[in-house]
Amino acid sequence: MDNGVVDVTILGAGPTGLAAAYYVGHRDGTARIVESLEQIGGQVAATYPEKHVYDVAGYPKVLGQTLVDLCAEQGLQYGAEVRLGEEAQTLERISQNGDELLALTTAQGNTYLSRAVIITAGHGAFEPRRLGVENVDEWLGRGLHYVVREKAQFKDKRCVIVGGGDSALDWTLGLQDTARLPIVLVHRRDKFRALESSVNEARRLEQAGAVRILTPHEVRDVQGDGRIESVTIEKTDDSSLEQVECDALITLLGFVSHLGAIADWGLELHGKRQILIDPKTCETSIPGVYAAGDVAGYEGKITLITVGMGEAAIAANNVIAHLRGEKVQPKYSTD
Ligand SMILES: Cc1cc2nc3c(=O)[nH]c(=O)nc-3n(C[C@H](O)[C@H](O)[C@H](O)COP(=O)(O)OP(=O)(O)OC[C@H]3O[C@@H](n4cnc5c(N)ncnc54)[C@H](O)[C@@H]3O)c2cc1C
Repeated sequence: MDNGVVDVTILGAGPTGLAAAYYVGHRDGTARIVESLEQIGGQVAATYPEKHVYDVAGYPKVLGQTLVDLCAEQGLQYGAEVRLGEEAQTLERISQNGDELLALTTAQGNTYLSRAVIITAGHGAFEPRRLGVENVDEWLGRGLHYVVREKAQFKDKRCVIVGGGDSALDWTLGLQDTARLPIVLVHRRDKFRALESSVNEARRLEQAGAVRILTPHEVRDVQGDGRIESVTIEKTDDSSLEQVECDALITLLGFVSHLGAIADWGLELHGKRQILIDPKTCETSIPGVYAAGDVAGYEGKITLITVGMGEAAIAANNVIAHLRGEKVQPKYSTD
């Protein structure tokens, strides 16, 4: 616990958290980002990496993933430490060697100490939306996947992909040169939400025998000895069941988010899902704890990337001034 005290713990690695890391580092402060997902980029990377964004200053048109990659390059240039896969659970004030510190503990059992905290938690911790199959998480690491990280993992595998959005269609197409064909695509509705061109391509591959499209179908059960070997799929309009051989069950059903434990930290809230801040400083009702981005609320707040980045600058500059007992003053970055 003595080690690793930083100036600021930043809770959430979305565009706002990355901007906060930049501004803390730019003011020679030290920062550590704690993020519940295994990836950085917040909502942008999790929900629309392949869509274009048009309203971020300086970028007339930029892919979501490209934008957050650039935010990471900029935000992490001063060496902020990033802890992925850790969901913040509790926040306590402690005294250590005469210093007043904030101790953030994660669901994974780690405690991170800092002099101040900036909460940039968006809509709260993201987690993948799960299949309605009892104890389905027991198959994680044994054939169940919530994301496709490396295509090579699926080499010659019999893949069942579940979902009706862009990710499900993209990977049905994207794994054509890797997985054993046909790839089975399961969606609970007849109509897909994905790009029409992707759906048309999947239909074309179905004709060629490279994809099997099952709609309206739902996965009801998973079987296997140690690893997934098959899944039971129901055709929901006549309740008939089919057992399909499967090595990799890839469920791409989007993400759900919840403010979770943060709502119990005693912070004054704005409505049900936002933390009340003073927009002039981004400070919350707890001294030393700041919030910015989608998670931070006040009358008239607009939840946009640009607004979150602006609040990150306000929060970081106020944190630095608070820690050093200085007047709040920005520092230009030009050299
Ligand atoms: C489909 C879609 C399209 C959009 N298009 C635009 C657009 O064109 N222009 C625009 O300006 N905005 C757009 N937005 C909104 C924009 O994405 C958000 O305003 C922006 O992502 C907010 O950034 P953030 O960093 O504040 O929060 P987020 O991006 O939500 O990041 C918060 C991060 O904090 C993490 N976190 C939360 N709780 C915890 C916890 N307890 N422990 C650890 N980690 C935690 C989350 O996992 C997440 O990664 C769009 C949003 C959606 C859904």
